[in-house]
Amino acid sequence: MQTYEQALLDAKAFVEKHDDFLVVSHVQPDGDAVSSTVAVGWLLSCLGKKFTLVNEGPIPKRMNYLTLSDQIINQLSDGGQREYQNIICVDCADFKRVGMVKEWMAESANILNIDHHPTNDGFGTVNVIKADAAATAEVLYDWINCFDIEWTTAAAEAIYTGLLTDTGGFRYSSTSPKVMEISSRLLELGVNGPELAETLLEEVTLAQVKVLALALSTLELTADGKIAYVHVTPEHMVISGAENEDLEGIVNFTRNIQGVEVGIFFKVINDNAVKASMRSAGKVDVAAIAQHFDGGGHIKAAGCRLEGSLGEVIEKVVQRVKEFL
Ligand code: 5GP
Ligand code: MN
Repeated sequence: MQTYEQALLDAKAFVEKHDDFLVVSHVQPDGDAVSSTVAVGWLLSCLGKKFTLVNEGPIPKRMNYLTLSDQIINQLSDGGQREYQNIICVDCADFKRVGMVKEWMAESANILNIDHHPTNDGFGTVNVIKADAAATAEVLYDWINCFDIEWTTAAAEAIYTGLLTDTGGFRYSSTSPKVMEISSRLLELGVNGPELAETLLEEVTLAQVKVLALALSTLELTADGKIAYVHVTPEHMVISGAENEDLEGIVNFTRNIQGVEVGIFFKVINDNAVKASMRSAGKVDVAAIAQHFDGGGHIKAAGCRLEGSLGEVIEKVVQRVKEFL
């Protein structure tokens, strides 16, 4: 088994050897995905390398303070044809997570896969997977330190953003001494912690509150009170004026109910597809449940996409969770 230190050095050799990189994170990117993308962009710019930052769709507007975030191409709206030979995937548990961006990769592409999901299947040519890292940003912090580069406040802000969002504001069990040490160093580099917490974790849009209200009005619990779930339909999205990024955090309301072991948020994508976001209080490994449905994630936070009507999908997922309880 390769050590983490060796994997970081292999990743360093990968960027030193190649040029003209496509940097991509997962569909519907969260704070860690966006900040990891721009952090890699910053590293490549320091190394004088050519690079393109991309995501299948738009990035959440609340993250547009991140330096280089304006350079992340929205691949679906770009619509162009491109073919990259050298790819860096960040925060993607498996290759499918890049979504349609795969269309921009050559058949014979070299892939550097940097991630922190225990369900990562090692799809890269070079893989740096640290399952006990709180965020991909934590892995990137270690990686960037392998190079002879001076940290800037903007780069520190990107890493801090990934750590802050993926630990739920330094509250989840992934908030290790190492996370706090790194964060302390990032604050010394000039990061404004309280301001980022306000922007990323406190502030809400009106549409976000409206869609939350609609979602909570669908709340159901199983008879034993151990599984709670809500859903949002395309109609709810229209009524509230919400965008995908406004759905972040809704699932926590289900999991946080006293006595609930697993909270689930179902997002209806169309008449025959539903995305399920699961959160566990600790006893149930929701990553294993998500993997059963071809998804993935972490023990306490995972997701998957299922085919079927809302009713069918709820039935299937809730049944599976019951078997795990
Ligand atoms: P969320 O429920 O917030 O979308 O995601 C929770 C966790 O599960 C994140 O770490 C996310 O990367 C992962 N995840 C969500 N959906 C999927 C999926 O469809 N496939 C895989 N492999 N991981 C997912
Ligand atoms: Mn992450």
